[in-house]
Amino acid sequence: METESARTEAEGEQATPTQGLSKRAQKRAAKAARLHELKLERRAREKEARKRKQQERARAVANGECDVNVTRKRRKTGAVGGGSPFNARLVIDLGFDELMTDKEINSLTSQLAYTYSANRHASHAFSSLLFTSVNGRTKQRLDAMNDAGYRRWSNTEWWEDSYEHIWTRSLSPARPPSREPTSAPTNSTPETTADADDLRRSVIYFTADSENEILELKEGETYVIGGICDHNRYKNLCLNKANTSKIRHAHLPIGRYISLSTRKVLTVNQVVEILLKWVETRDWEKAFWTVIPKRKFQGVERVDPEDDGSTTNEVEDGNEPGGNAHSDLEGA
Ligand code: SAH
Repeated sequence: METESARTEAEGEQATPTQGLSKRAQKRAAKAARLHELKLERRAREKEARKRKQQERARAVANGECDVNVTRKRRKTGAVGGGSPFNARLVIDLGFDELMTDKEINSLTSQLAYTYSANRHASHAFSSLLFTSVNGRTKQRLDAMNDAGYRRWSNTEWWEDSYEHIWTRSLSPARPPSREPTSAPTNSTPETTADADDLRRSVIYFTADSENEILELKEGETYVIGGICDHNRYKNLCLNKANTSKIRHAHLPIGRYISLSTRKVLTVNQVVEILLKWVETRDWEKAFWTVIPKRKFQGVERVDPEDDGSTTNEVEDGNEPGGNAHSDLEGA
């Protein structure tokens, strides 16, 4: 049987030598090689995780801790990862279609597929995965990928509306039901402005640009991730959006544990994988070291979490008036 390393070597032999190429072509070849390396790194991580999970499951079945039928039931519900779901909603805000190049949209849609897969295979998946503002080229690309495979993703919701519809939906005119994958909201619907306010307070927008830091995830809350791939072009984009929506915002506590040389902006699926790892282990450090590519760690040090020299605010409970995040919003 052909092994992964054998394949890689064979591919390596076929690769065009870069000598004699123009500078630009050499650069392009180096980039392709880098991307290939990253892909292998990611595949190896995924393979390792699959192997670990299979071993855990086999051990649990052998010890009588888990029934083989449970696996079948999970297949039906779409969750294959194991334990009980984490009862919080994850939202991917796709409202940035016009700000991306076609290439970036392709990257983003791949990240969405990784996101879905990560949640589906997580030991404690987010109970709800919602994609909002599904429009434009992003939707076209999703429709074209794998025969619109995303329409068959289990336990996902797709809205044409923005995430603000979470709290404004009953306050806006009803829309006719649609066969499109932009299904109408099914969860609780706010009936009064006070309900809408409560719902809004349960939402946190993640952005590296926030001065607030999230220290724990809580069941019952809704976490929004910006569905954009912009190679760091747009600073404060999601922060400004969160402020306009008057919702809380926060960055992940990466700097507490790892001193990175580059800015700590991650991709959508990396953020989701970190959140899922935290839910599983309740340990941010473990989550970061598992998910963030090792090449980002070159020349970095672990930070002693006790020695907190940071000047960031901690995100406080959305229901407590005067929490840091809310005092920011009141001025917004
Ligand atoms: N310029 C974009 C960056 C997109 S990165 C912006 O304004 O946010 C894709 C998304 O991943 C972000 O929108 C954010 O939701 C999430 N993300 C990336 N790095 C993060 C970090 N360090 N902390 C919190 N969220 C992060």
